[in-house]
Amino acid sequence: MVKVGIPRGLYYYKYSTLWENFFTELGAEIVISDKTNKNILLEGASKCVSEACLPIKAYYGHVINLLGKADYIFLPRLTSISQKQYICPEVAGVQDMIRNSVKVLPRIIDTEINLRKSEKNSWKAALYTGGFLTNDKEKIKNAYKNALGAYRNERQVMKSGVLMDEFKQEIGSMPLRVIQKRSTNITVAVLGHCYTVYDTFINMELIRKLKDYGIGVVTLDMLDYQESKQRSRELDKMLFWDYGTRAYGGTIQLIENGGIDGVIAITSFGCGVDSFVIELVEKKIRSESDIPFMKLVLDEHSAEAGFCTRLEAFVDMIIRRGSYENNVSSFR
Ligand code: SF4
Repeated sequence: MVKVGIPRGLYYYKYSTLWENFFTELGAEIVISDKTNKNILLEGASKCVSEACLPIKAYYGHVINLLGKADYIFLPRLTSISQKQYICPEVAGVQDMIRNSVKVLPRIIDTEINLRKSEKNSWKAALYTGGFLTNDKEKIKNAYKNALGAYRNERQVMKSGVLMDEFKQEIGSMPLRVIQKRSTNITVAVLGHCYTVYDTFINMELIRKLKDYGIGVVTLDMLDYQESKQRSRELDKMLFWDYGTRAYGGTIQLIENGGIDGVIAITSFGCGVDSFVIELVEKKIRSESDIPFMKLVLDEHSAEAGFCTRLEAFVDMIIRRGSYENNVSSFR
């Protein structure tokens, strides 16, 4: 059986269900790299240019982790995942960066995914990708149709308030009903790219820590993307980046829908996209609401002790605000 390796990084955290179902239905054995850990990150950082952000360095490490384990490695070139919007150039270029610096790679499935003009282009991408495994176009189309169905179902469930980890039931061995329990009525929105929000090593288990405080968590995946796109039109110029639209339009939804007691934006050191998107988000929150906002910047040198101290102070402040309505902290 042909083995297809998929690095557990970047957009794997959005499309894992789609990709895994697709390759499996085409008869491949899927090999996913290990969960991000210290070695993966160190390996990745040692091969990658130092200017790259943490998620890109981790992605390198995941590719290295797959070496010798698969016949192919799936390294899609993601240029755009939604109409008229782009993905960060580091994601679009990571395939070339890896080819250039990791010398003994197996065969690469180098699909270009560019949905800027039309979402129908995803079918072309599927035919190209499936072509590495079979010449049977009907089989590829069916596999993609079924995988797309599974992916859309997952998205729908997440929109109803279920986190990705909960959906996949991957938080330890806890069953879903235990994970969803909360002991406070506090809800915090965690804004960030899927690969920073769901990679528990990169974000030092932020979501698990919030859950341990008994806090409910909202992510951008729980908000309506079309609505975010619509709401982002209030800006003089539509945002260029898919993530910018999701984060800015999502922030407007969070403010208007109410029920959010705090917003945490997690961002990676040196991220060009976040440098202005998070600025816009922060301005919006501070000018149109009294929701406390905190930005956490991550890189490979981030220390967990400092991270926990800031998180604890933020949570304490939210709890105190609940008791003393006028106690508005300097976090605002
Ligand atoms: S958007 Fe930012 S965090 Fe994501 S890959 Fe690009 S530079 Fe890195």
